[in-house]
Amino acid sequence: MTAVIDRLALIGVGLIGGSIARAAREYGAAREIVATARSAETRKRVAELGIADRVVETNAEAARDADLVIVCIPVGASGPVAAEIAGSLKQGAIVSDVGSVKAAVLNDMAPHIPNGVHLIPAHPVAGTENSGPDSGFAELFVNRWCILTPPVGADAAAVEKLGAFWSALGANVEVMTAEHHDMVLAITSHLPHLIAYTIVGTAEEFSTVSRSEVLKFSAGGFRDFTRIAASDPTMWRDVFLHNKDAVLEMLAQFSEDLAKLTRAMRRGDGETLFDHFTRTRAIRRGIVQIGQDSAAPDFGRPHQAKPGAPLPRPYAADDE
Ligand code: NAP
Repeated sequence: MTAVIDRLALIGVGLIGGSIARAAREYGAAREIVATARSAETRKRVAELGIADRVVETNAEAARDADLVIVCIPVGASGPVAAEIAGSLKQGAIVSDVGSVKAAVLNDMAPHIPNGVHLIPAHPVAGTENSGPDSGFAELFVNRWCILTPPVGADAAAVEKLGAFWSALGANVEVMTAEHHDMVLAITSHLPHLIAYTIVGTAEEFSTVSRSEVLKFSAGGFRDFTRIAASDPTMWRDVFLHNKDAVLEMLAQFSEDLAKLTRAMRRGDGETLFDHFTRTRAIRRGIVQIGQDSAAPDFGRPHQAKPGAPLPRPYAADDE
Protein backbone atom coordinates (compact mmCIF):
# COMPACT_ATOMS: atom_id res chain seq x y z
CA MET A 1 0.00 0.00 0.00
CA THR A 2 1.28 3.49 -0.80
CA ALA A 3 1.53 5.65 2.32
CA VAL A 4 -1.11 8.41 2.51
CA ILE A 5 1.46 10.76 4.03
CA ASP A 6 5.11 11.04 3.13
CA ARG A 7 6.54 12.65 6.28
CA LEU A 8 4.44 12.70 9.46
CA ALA A 9 5.49 14.89 12.40
CA LEU A 10 4.06 14.17 15.85
CA ILE A 11 4.39 16.88 18.46
CA GLY A 12 3.64 15.27 21.82
CA VAL A 13 3.89 11.50 22.22
CA GLY A 14 1.53 10.41 24.97
CA LEU A 15 -1.42 8.05 24.70
CA ILE A 16 -2.73 9.61 21.49
CA GLY A 17 0.55 10.59 19.81
CA GLY A 18 2.02 7.21 20.78
CA SER A 19 -0.98 5.39 19.33
CA ILE A 20 -0.85 7.40 16.08
CA ALA A 21 2.87 6.58 15.71
CA ARG A 22 2.27 2.86 16.23
CA ALA A 23 -0.82 2.75 14.00
CA ALA A 24 0.76 4.83 11.20
CA ARG A 25 3.64 2.39 11.05
CA GLU A 26 1.61 -0.78 11.48
CA TYR A 27 -0.93 0.17 8.81
CA GLY A 28 1.59 1.87 6.50
CA ALA A 29 -0.15 5.27 6.65
CA ALA A 30 3.08 7.33 6.70
CA ARG A 31 6.42 6.72 5.03
CA GLU A 32 8.45 8.46 7.72
CA ILE A 33 7.55 9.42 11.30
CA VAL A 34 9.38 12.23 13.10
CA ALA A 35 8.46 12.81 16.73
CA THR A 36 9.19 15.17 19.57
CA ALA A 37 7.91 15.74 23.09
CA ARG A 38 8.25 18.50 25.66
CA SER A 39 10.50 16.67 28.13
CA ALA A 40 13.85 15.00 27.50
CA GLU A 41 12.52 12.04 29.48
CA THR A 42 9.61 11.41 27.08
CA ARG A 43 11.83 11.92 24.01
CA LYS A 44 14.25 9.35 25.42
CA ARG A 45 11.44 6.89 26.07
CA VAL A 46 10.02 7.35 22.54
CA ALA A 47 13.48 6.63 21.10
CA GLU A 48 13.76 3.50 23.28
CA LEU A 49 10.33 2.28 22.19
CA GLY A 50 11.37 2.78 18.56
CA ILE A 51 7.90 3.95 17.52
CA ALA A 52 9.23 6.86 15.39
CA ASP A 53 11.92 6.88 12.71
CA ARG A 54 13.50 10.00 14.24
CA VAL A 55 13.10 11.71 17.59
CA VAL A 56 14.12 15.37 17.52
CA GLU A 57 14.66 17.99 20.23
CA THR A 58 12.32 20.82 19.25
CA ASN A 59 8.82 21.31 17.88
CA ALA A 60 10.16 23.49 15.05
CA GLU A 61 12.64 20.80 14.03
CA ALA A 62 9.91 18.15 13.99
CA ALA A 63 7.61 20.28 11.81
CA ARG A 64 10.30 21.11 9.24
CA ASP A 65 9.44 19.64 5.80
CA ALA A 66 6.63 17.53 7.23
CA ASP A 67 3.60 16.88 5.03
CA LEU A 68 1.33 16.39 8.02
CA VAL A 69 2.01 17.80 11.49
CA ILE A 70 -0.24 16.47 14.28
CA VAL A 71 -0.09 18.30 17.60
CA CYS A 72 -0.94 15.74 20.34
CA ILE A 73 -0.74 17.80 23.53
CA PRO A 74 -3.20 19.28 26.06
CA VAL A 75 -5.47 21.78 24.29
CA GLY A 76 -4.27 24.73 26.40
CA ALA A 77 -0.79 24.41 24.87
CA SER A 78 -1.91 24.42 21.20
CA GLY A 79 -1.53 28.17 20.58
CA PRO A 80 2.07 28.53 21.82
CA VAL A 81 3.10 25.36 19.95
CA ALA A 82 1.54 26.67 16.70
CA ALA A 83 3.60 29.86 17.16
CA GLU A 84 6.77 27.77 17.61
CA ILE A 85 6.30 25.68 14.46
CA ALA A 86 4.95 28.44 12.17
CA GLY A 87 8.37 29.36 10.75
CA SER A 88 9.29 25.83 9.71
CA LEU A 89 6.07 24.70 8.03
CA LYS A 90 6.41 23.99 4.33
CA GLN A 91 3.92 25.23 1.73
CA GLY A 92 1.05 22.79 1.24
CA ALA A 93 1.59 21.09 4.62
CA ILE A 94 -1.39 20.10 6.74
CA VAL A 95 -1.39 21.03 10.43
CA SER A 96 -3.81 19.16 12.65
CA ASP A 97 -4.33 18.22 16.28
CA VAL A 98 -6.20 15.65 18.38
CA GLY A 99 -7.62 17.89 21.11
CA SER A 100 -10.92 17.04 22.78
CA VAL A 101 -12.11 20.65 22.30
CA LYS A 102 -12.17 22.21 18.84
CA ALA A 103 -13.34 25.85 18.68
CA ALA A 104 -10.74 27.07 21.20
CA VAL A 105 -7.96 25.13 19.45
CA LEU A 106 -8.93 26.59 16.09
CA ASN A 107 -8.98 30.13 17.54
CA ASP A 108 -5.64 29.66 19.29
CA MET A 109 -3.77 28.01 16.40
CA ALA A 110 -5.18 29.75 13.32
CA PRO A 111 -3.49 33.17 13.83
CA HIS A 112 -0.05 31.51 13.67
CA ILE A 113 -0.55 29.33 10.58
CA PRO A 114 1.07 30.83 7.45
CA ASN A 115 -0.79 31.24 4.14
CA GLY A 116 -0.46 28.14 2.00
CA VAL A 117 -0.50 25.81 5.03
CA HIS A 118 -3.78 23.99 5.77
CA LEU A 119 -5.01 24.00 9.36
CA ILE A 120 -7.55 21.20 9.86
CA PRO A 121 -8.23 20.36 13.51
CA ALA A 122 -9.39 16.84 14.35
CA HIS A 123 -10.50 14.77 17.33
CA PRO A 124 -10.18 11.00 17.43
CA VAL A 125 -13.03 9.97 19.75
CA ALA A 126 -11.04 7.15 21.27
CA GLY A 127 -8.92 6.91 24.35
CA THR A 128 -8.29 5.35 27.72
CA GLU A 129 -7.62 6.76 31.18
CA ASN A 130 -3.87 6.12 30.72
CA SER A 131 -1.19 8.62 29.69
CA GLY A 132 2.34 8.68 28.32
CA PRO A 133 4.12 7.04 25.38
CA ASP A 134 3.98 3.52 26.88
CA SER A 135 0.17 3.60 27.04
CA GLY A 136 -0.35 3.94 23.26
CA PHE A 137 -1.35 1.03 21.02
CA ALA A 138 -1.88 0.65 17.28
CA GLU A 139 -5.51 -0.54 17.42
CA LEU A 140 -6.79 2.41 19.47
CA PHE A 141 -8.59 4.06 16.54
CA VAL A 142 -9.97 0.98 14.82
CA ASN A 143 -13.72 1.37 14.28
CA ARG A 144 -13.76 4.56 16.39
CA TRP A 145 -14.81 7.97 15.08
CA CYS A 146 -12.40 10.70 14.12
CA ILE A 147 -14.13 14.07 13.77
CA LEU A 148 -12.53 16.64 11.45
CA THR A 149 -13.49 20.28 12.02
CA PRO A 150 -12.15 22.24 9.03
CA PRO A 151 -12.59 26.02 9.24
CA VAL A 152 -14.81 27.75 6.66
CA GLY A 153 -13.05 27.82 3.29
CA ALA A 154 -10.62 24.99 4.12
CA ASP A 155 -8.95 23.29 1.16
CA ALA A 156 -11.12 20.29 0.19
CA ALA A 157 -8.16 18.19 -0.99
CA ALA A 158 -6.37 18.71 2.34
CA VAL A 159 -9.51 17.71 4.28
CA GLU A 160 -9.79 14.60 2.13
CA LYS A 161 -6.13 13.73 2.66
CA LEU A 162 -6.40 14.06 6.44
CA GLY A 163 -9.56 11.93 6.33
CA ALA A 164 -7.72 9.30 4.28
CA PHE A 165 -4.92 9.26 6.87
CA TRP A 166 -7.36 8.60 9.72
CA SER A 167 -9.19 5.98 7.64
CA ALA A 168 -5.85 4.24 7.12
CA LEU A 169 -5.51 4.04 10.92
CA GLY A 170 -8.88 2.25 11.00
CA ALA A 171 -11.06 5.19 12.07
CA ASN A 172 -14.44 6.21 10.68
CA VAL A 173 -14.28 9.85 9.64
CA GLU A 174 -16.96 12.50 10.15
CA VAL A 175 -16.78 16.22 9.32
CA MET A 176 -18.56 18.97 11.29
CA THR A 177 -17.99 22.51 12.51
CA ALA A 178 -15.84 23.06 15.59
CA GLU A 179 -18.80 24.62 17.44
CA HIS A 180 -21.06 21.66 16.76
CA HIS A 181 -18.31 19.24 17.80
CA ASP A 182 -17.97 21.05 21.13
CA MET A 183 -21.72 20.76 21.85
CA VAL A 184 -21.82 17.06 20.93
CA LEU A 185 -18.76 16.23 23.03
CA ALA A 186 -19.98 18.34 25.95
CA ILE A 187 -22.86 15.89 26.44
CA THR A 188 -21.22 12.65 25.31
CA SER A 189 -17.86 13.07 27.03
CA HIS A 190 -17.19 16.26 28.98
CA LEU A 191 -20.28 16.21 31.24
CA PRO A 192 -19.91 12.46 32.01
CA HIS A 193 -16.30 13.14 33.04
CA LEU A 194 -17.38 16.05 35.24
CA ILE A 195 -20.00 13.83 36.91
CA ALA A 196 -17.48 11.01 37.44
CA TYR A 197 -14.92 13.40 38.94
CA THR A 198 -17.66 14.71 41.25
CA ILE A 199 -19.00 11.35 42.43
CA VAL A 200 -15.59 9.89 43.14
CA GLY A 201 -14.68 13.04 45.09
CA THR A 202 -17.99 12.86 47.03
CA ALA A 203 -17.35 9.23 48.00
CA GLU A 204 -13.88 10.19 49.19
CA GLU A 205 -15.34 12.83 51.53
CA PHE A 206 -18.26 10.77 52.80
CA SER A 207 -17.69 10.04 56.49
CA THR A 208 -20.39 7.50 57.43
CA VAL A 209 -19.16 4.92 54.90
CA SER A 210 -15.53 3.98 55.31
CA ARG A 211 -13.05 4.29 52.48
CA SER A 212 -12.39 0.56 52.56
CA GLU A 213 -16.12 -0.14 52.16
CA VAL A 214 -16.30 2.19 49.14
CA LEU A 215 -13.47 0.25 47.51
CA LYS A 216 -14.71 -3.18 48.57
CA PHE A 217 -18.27 -2.75 47.25
CA SER A 218 -17.32 -0.62 44.23
CA ALA A 219 -18.71 -3.10 41.68
CA GLY A 220 -22.19 -1.72 42.53
CA GLY A 221 -21.58 1.08 39.99
CA PHE A 222 -18.93 3.28 41.61
CA ARG A 223 -16.10 1.32 39.97
CA ASP A 224 -17.16 2.39 36.46
CA PHE A 225 -16.98 6.04 37.51
CA THR A 226 -13.52 5.59 39.03
CA ARG A 227 -12.09 4.55 35.66
CA ILE A 228 -13.26 7.79 34.07
CA ALA A 229 -12.24 9.83 37.12
CA ALA A 230 -8.70 8.47 36.80
CA SER A 231 -8.26 10.34 33.48
CA ASP A 232 -5.36 12.73 33.04
CA PRO A 233 -5.78 15.83 35.26
CA THR A 234 -3.95 18.22 32.89
CA MET A 235 -5.92 17.14 29.86
CA TRP A 236 -9.26 17.43 31.64
CA ARG A 237 -8.47 20.73 33.34
CA ASP A 238 -7.84 22.11 29.84
CA VAL A 239 -11.02 20.56 28.42
CA PHE A 240 -13.22 22.22 31.06
CA LEU A 241 -11.45 25.57 30.75
CA HIS A 242 -11.70 25.56 26.94
CA ASN A 243 -15.20 24.17 26.42
CA LYS A 244 -16.71 26.07 29.32
CA ASP A 245 -19.81 27.47 27.58
CA ALA A 246 -21.03 24.20 26.08
CA VAL A 247 -20.39 22.23 29.29
CA LEU A 248 -22.16 24.85 31.42
CA GLU A 249 -25.15 24.73 29.07
CA MET A 250 -25.34 20.92 29.33
CA LEU A 251 -24.81 21.12 33.09
CA ALA A 252 -27.83 23.43 33.47
CA GLN A 253 -29.99 20.91 31.57
CA PHE A 254 -28.54 18.07 33.65
CA SER A 255 -29.32 19.88 36.91
CA GLU A 256 -32.95 20.34 35.82
CA ASP A 257 -33.26 16.64 34.96
CA LEU A 258 -31.65 15.65 38.26
CA ALA A 259 -34.15 17.87 40.09
CA LYS A 260 -37.00 16.08 38.26
CA LEU A 261 -35.76 12.66 39.37
CA THR A 262 -35.13 13.91 42.90
CA ARG A 263 -38.70 15.22 43.07
CA ALA A 264 -40.11 11.90 41.78
CA MET A 265 -38.15 10.01 44.42
CA ARG A 266 -39.24 12.32 47.20
CA ARG A 267 -42.92 12.04 46.15
CA GLY A 268 -42.75 8.26 45.72
CA ASP A 269 -43.54 8.69 42.01
CA GLY A 270 -42.34 5.28 40.79
CA GLU A 271 -43.88 5.71 37.35
CA THR A 272 -41.67 8.70 36.51
CA LEU A 273 -38.57 6.85 37.70
CA PHE A 274 -39.52 3.68 35.79
CA ASP A 275 -40.25 5.57 32.55
CA HIS A 276 -36.97 7.45 32.77
CA PHE A 277 -34.91 4.31 33.41
CA THR A 278 -36.67 2.54 30.53
CA ARG A 279 -35.67 5.34 28.14
CA THR A 280 -32.05 5.31 29.31
CA ARG A 281 -31.84 1.52 28.99
CA ALA A 282 -32.86 1.89 25.33
CA ILE A 283 -29.95 4.31 24.78
CA ARG A 284 -27.49 1.77 26.18
CA ARG A 285 -28.94 -0.93 23.91
CA GLY A 286 -28.66 1.42 20.93
CA ILE A 287 -24.94 1.96 21.65
CA VAL A 288 -24.36 -1.80 21.71
CA GLN A 289 -26.43 -2.25 18.54
CA ILE A 290 -24.26 0.16 16.51
CA GLY A 291 -21.11 -1.59 17.73
CA GLN A 292 -19.80 1.19 19.97
CA ASP A 293 -19.60 -1.19 22.95
CA SER A 294 -19.99 -4.84 23.81
CA ALA A 295 -23.06 -6.29 25.49
CA ALA A 296 -20.83 -8.52 27.63
CA PRO A 297 -21.30 -8.06 31.40
CA ASP A 298 -19.40 -5.25 33.14
CA PHE A 299 -19.12 -3.15 30.01
CA GLY A 300 -17.16 -5.86 28.22
CA ARG A 301 -14.51 -6.02 30.91
CA PRO A 302 -12.91 -9.46 30.82
CA HIS A 303 -13.27 -11.66 33.90
CA GLN A 304 -10.72 -13.94 35.47
CA ALA A 305 -10.94 -17.46 34.08
CA LYS A 306 -10.65 -18.74 37.68
CA PRO A 307 -9.69 -17.20 41.01
CA GLY A 308 -6.09 -16.01 41.00
CA ALA A 309 -5.73 -16.20 37.20
CA PRO A 310 -4.35 -13.09 35.51
CA LEU A 311 -6.82 -10.72 33.88
CA PRO A 312 -6.53 -10.38 30.11
CA ARG A 313 -5.69 -6.89 28.74
CA PRO A 314 -8.80 -4.71 28.43
CA TYR A 315 -10.33 -5.52 25.06
CA ALA A 316 -10.90 -2.01 23.89
CA ALA A 317 -10.66 1.61 24.75
CA ASP A 318 -13.49 3.90 25.65
CA ASP A 319 -14.42 7.01 23.78
CA GLU A 320 -13.19 10.15 25.43
P1 NAP B 1 -0.67 12.39 27.38
O1 NAP B 1 -0.59 10.92 27.28
O2 NAP B 1 -0.59 13.02 28.73
O3 NAP B 1 0.49 13.04 26.47
C1 NAP B 1 0.59 14.42 26.36
C2 NAP B 1 1.81 14.82 25.54
O4 NAP B 1 1.80 16.25 25.45
C3 NAP B 1 3.14 14.42 26.14
O5 NAP B 1 4.05 14.10 25.11
C4 NAP B 1 3.60 15.70 26.86
O6 NAP B 1 4.99 15.82 26.87
C5 NAP B 1 3.04 16.77 25.92
N1 NAP B 1 2.79 18.04 26.62
C6 NAP B 1 2.15 18.21 27.80
N2 NAP B 1 2.07 19.52 28.09
C7 NAP B 1 2.67 20.17 27.09
C8 NAP B 1 2.94 21.55 26.83
N3 NAP B 1 2.53 22.51 27.68
N4 NAP B 1 3.61 21.85 25.68
C9 NAP B 1 4.02 20.89 24.83
N5 NAP B 1 3.80 19.58 25.04
C10 NAP B 1 3.13 19.23 26.15
O7 NAP B 1 -2.01 12.98 26.72
P2 NAP B 1 -2.98 12.34 25.63
O8 NAP B 1 -4.00 11.49 26.32
O9 NAP B 1 -2.19 11.75 24.53
O10 NAP B 1 -3.75 13.64 25.17
C11 NAP B 1 -3.24 14.51 24.20
C12 NAP B 1 -4.38 15.25 23.53
O11 NAP B 1 -5.30 14.28 23.01
C13 NAP B 1 -5.18 16.15 24.46
O12 NAP B 1 -5.43 17.37 23.81
C14 NAP B 1 -6.49 15.42 24.63
O13 NAP B 1 -7.56 16.33 24.77
C15 NAP B 1 -6.61 14.63 23.35
N6 NAP B 1 -7.36 13.37 23.46
C16 NAP B 1 -7.16 12.55 24.51
C17 NAP B 1 -7.89 11.39 24.61
C18 NAP B 1 -7.71 10.47 25.79
O14 NAP B 1 -8.55 9.63 26.06
N7 NAP B 1 -6.62 10.56 26.52
C19 NAP B 1 -8.80 11.02 23.60
C20 NAP B 1 -8.94 11.86 22.50
C21 NAP B 1 -8.21 13.04 22.44
P3 NAP B 1 5.86 15.27 28.13
O15 NAP B 1 5.55 13.79 28.23
O16 NAP B 1 7.23 15.54 27.72
O17 NAP B 1 5.38 16.01 29.33
